[in-house]
Amino acid sequence: MLVTKPHPFYALSAEGSYITDADGWTRIDWVNNFASLIHGHNKREVVEIISQQAARLLSATMPAEWEVRLAELLVERIPSVEQVRFMNSGTEANLIAIKAARAFSGKSKVAKLEGGYHGQYDLLEASYVPSADRWGARDCPAVLAHNSGTPKSLLDELVLFALNDIATMREILRRNASEVGTVIIDPSGLSLGTGVYADREFLAALRETTERLGMVLIFDEVWSLRSGYRGTQGAVGITPDITTMGKMIGGGLPIGAVGGKRDVMSVFSVDEGEPKVKHSGTFTGNPMSMAAGFTAMSLMVPEMFEMLAVQGQRLTDGLRRALTDTNTQGHVVNRGSMTNLLFTEGIPVDYRDLYTQQTPTVAALAAKMPKLMATEGLHVLRNMFVGSTAISDDDVDQTIAAVTRALVAAREAR
Ligand code: PMP
Repeated sequence: MLVTKPHPFYALSAEGSYITDADGWTRIDWVNNFASLIHGHNKREVVEIISQQAARLLSATMPAEWEVRLAELLVERIPSVEQVRFMNSGTEANLIAIKAARAFSGKSKVAKLEGGYHGQYDLLEASYVPSADRWGARDCPAVLAHNSGTPKSLLDELVLFALNDIATMREILRRNASEVGTVIIDPSGLSLGTGVYADREFLAALRETTERLGMVLIFDEVWSLRSGYRGTQGAVGITPDITTMGKMIGGGLPIGAVGGKRDVMSVFSVDEGEPKVKHSGTFTGNPMSMAAGFTAMSLMVPEMFEMLAVQGQRLTDGLRRALTDTNTQGHVVNRGSMTNLLFTEGIPVDYRDLYTQQTPTVAALAAKMPKLMATEGLHVLRNMFVGSTAISDDDVDQTIAAVTRALVAAREAR
């Protein structure tokens, strides 16, 4: 849910690229349920398969055909995925992936990016948004709880490093190599909505370092899978040991998935008695999500990803014009179907840089814009535009005009 004050927008209905709230406002939807609706709303083929499947089989403890079909599709497309298991959210996928990596490596500690987001598991939530007064030294960042009540013993299991700083990352992993067996990263960058992207060289160095130190590398592609037909890993040509997925692979229904090479995935195997990691769940691999996911993913042929990239570029060019025309300091950063409007002076490279560049003026404008854009007919989260195949060129042009008006309104309100 998106929390807006004084109350949230209550959704009533949606169609294609548009969403209508309970007050009767219809807006172009650039959130697409946190990047899960790759085809926008109510894609005909997806709605049809959901209706048919609902009449046939809602859920069962037995696997069903759609699970196999979706698994085969992911195995064919995603380089690191030879075997895959399904669950119900990205959070759950990361939780299970960590269990698998621990069982495989034999070491309990996990390393992740300072400022990285991987869902609601409290271990991985730590230091998601740390403040400068507490974050500690850059080469040994303090691990800070995200929620009150998080056990200190859990925080002791986490090690942090910064994005795009190869030397420090290598040094931190080397120093902790006897205890860290797992490294998790969203290969597209820092975390959803920040617009801070990973350099390919950094990902390559991380792959080389984890391999050398015997650590399991997890790519959290829960949202970055939308970057290309073979995910971000296919686009950059770097293959992790485990990939976690979610969002778009469910076609709009709840889903999570953990995939990897046969050797790592063998921790789940029941072939030789008790598996090292026991994984089950009431709704895992449920036929509704599997059917919707397979249908939505089948429609995402390579040309569709190219179309999304062209759409993203059209939007990026237009938003850059909007910044110039309204004399607003800022940048537009784009990766395929993800476009971010940043009001910072430079383009941030890591969490601390992003945090430091959020001066009160920058933060105030960033906080104000989603509301102003909502008034102009756009549904946008954190100044990030998540594309979908339902969005037309006309929608993009209307968006650029609406953002320009919102920037003018923001200036007048200053
Ligand atoms: N990982 C990443 C990179 C995400 O962006 C998200 C969701 N925003 C998650 C994990 C968690 O997924 P879910 O909300 O399905 O639990």
